[in-house]
Amino acid sequence: MTLLTAEHLTKTYRLPGGGTHTAADDVSFTIPEGGALGVVGESGSGKTTVARMLVGLVPPDRGTVTVAGRRREPRAPRGRAARLARAKEIQMVFQDPYVSLDPRLTATQCLRTALRLHGRDEALSRDLLDRVGLGAREADARPRDLSGGQRQRLAIARALAVDPRILVLDEAVAALDVSIQAQILHLLAEIRRDTGVALLFVSHDLAVVQHVTDSVLVMRRGHPVEHGPTSQVLTAPEHAYTQKLLAAVPRRSPSGV
Ligand code: ADP
Ligand code: MG
Repeated sequence: MTLLTAEHLTKTYRLPGGGTHTAADDVSFTIPEGGALGVVGESGSGKTTVARMLVGLVPPDRGTVTVAGRRREPRAPRGRAARLARAKEIQMVFQDPYVSLDPRLTATQCLRTALRLHGRDEALSRDLLDRVGLGAREADARPRDLSGGQRQRLAIARALAVDPRILVLDEAVAALDVSIQAQILHLLAEIRRDTGVALLFVSHDLAVVQHVTDSVLVMRRGHPVEHGPTSQVLTAPEHAYTQKLLAAVPRRSPSGV
């Protein structure tokens, strides 16, 4: 069953000096229930713009996003209940975990706050910490006292506290060392398997999407250029641009394979 449908998403930015730039041009894709789609392309190809249109941080000029048969309004709706319901559909994890973490709160406080906001049992904070591999010591730590990898684990737990249908991860491992990247990718695959949450995984690095996604959408200068099963796109890329991206992948992939 299809969980998310993005159709004809298009965004043109006005540039400060006059003129315009089309960051995403007619981008369409679907994600099945529990599926995982990778969106890859060089820096500037429009990946973040697409991710932000999905969650509602950027209103598209054209196009629609439908989750579980319900069309999402391009902007956050008025009213607490509607906003919370919408947040439950899609949660985002950013490259910089501080975007979603309050520096004043310990990991446990952060998760309890999110759980409470969404009417869930605050005691679930323990399960969430467990799920992302954070222990008793990290539970009482504030974001600045955690390592980069631990901080991203907490940001993932914070997103899961909402119990979303889809996690959108924008370069979520890009700032981490290769060995830590592999751990977080492994964690995401595990979370997907155990919870059935769907993933949209944005990365400039093809190697990173390899083991967490079933299909890949390749973007270039705002245009989708190739879309297919991950194994096929990575082993037999059709588009010259995808071939170029693949050639740039270092032999040692983050998964260690
Ligand atoms: P990616 O995530 O693939 O690096 P982005 O979606 O961030 O790509 O950006 C795509 C293009 O749109 C880039 O050329 C970028 O400079 C431009 N862009 C992104 N956000 C804005 C904005 N708010 N105003 C103007 N141009 C933007
Ligand atoms: Mg980006």
